[in-house]
Amino acid sequence: MNILEIKNLHAGIEGQKILKGVNLTIKKGEFHALMGPNGSGKSTLSNVIMGSPGYEVYEGEIIFKDKNIMEMRPDERSRLGMFLSFQHPVPIPGVSVSKFLKRAIEVRAAEKGEKFQAAKFIKNIKGHVSFLEIDNSFVNRSLNDGFSGGEKKRMEMLQMLMLDPELVVLDELDSGLDIDAIKIVSKAVNKLKEKDDFSVFIITHYQRILNYIEPDFVHVLVNGKIATSGGKELVGKLEEQGYDWVREKSTASVNV
Ligand code: ADP
Ligand code: MG
Repeated sequence: MNILEIKNLHAGIEGQKILKGVNLTIKKGEFHALMGPNGSGKSTLSNVIMGSPGYEVYEGEIIFKDKNIMEMRPDERSRLGMFLSFQHPVPIPGVSVSKFLKRAIEVRAAEKGEKFQAAKFIKNIKGHVSFLEIDNSFVNRSLNDGFSGGEKKRMEMLQMLMLDPELVVLDELDSGLDIDAIKIVSKAVNKLKEKDDFSVFIITHYQRILNYIEPDFVHVLVNGKIATSGGKELVGKLEEQGYDWVREKSTASVNV
């Protein structure tokens, strides 16, 4: 069973085409990694999957849990079970972490016709905060406001655990993190793995995090297209040889 199907996706920003025909299928329970040089379109792809405003889709479609989601807003995609962890989480001064999360959970409960359970919410948030080794005082601070790189990524993981998604898109979760922080954020992703059918689409430049969040498949995005795909062994090859051989391969296939 597929959780995500991306078909011939062409997308970009302000008339500038960045993605030029991306095809990708993720089955339920699979972990996929996306690598690729700077500027190849990785963040654009993650944003378009989540439906971030500001991106234009020119062609193609995205199917999530058998639904065409192209017309859905990001919040609708989120409620359907998708979660995006941003490469650069945005500070929201004046909105505390706990208020932000409470509102998200309240809205979800209301949609299902259920009552918001305050005690359960507090128990969950406390449990996850301790699991992520975050200081308790954090939940009262404004979201991402003045947070260090590591703190921002832990906040993303706290949101992820609270929202309990079925598919997570992790855009450079490891950028700027020391090894201890990488272990903690990986632990958060692997915690959700305990659930059946949990799927991961992780974008990274480095092998290191993939030692903790092990991919079943690895794809390389070059110039807006997936130039090659393979198994875990591709990660080591990229680490050793860089992207040049993939670039050559993709140019060669275009010319044939
Ligand atoms: P990656 O995440 O692989 O490094 P991005 O998806 O961030 O790549 O960017 C792909 C290309 O789109 C780059 O050339 C980048 O400069 C351009 N781009 C990304 N975001 C914007 C933006 N907001 N405005 C204009 N160009 C952008
Ligand atoms: Mg990026």
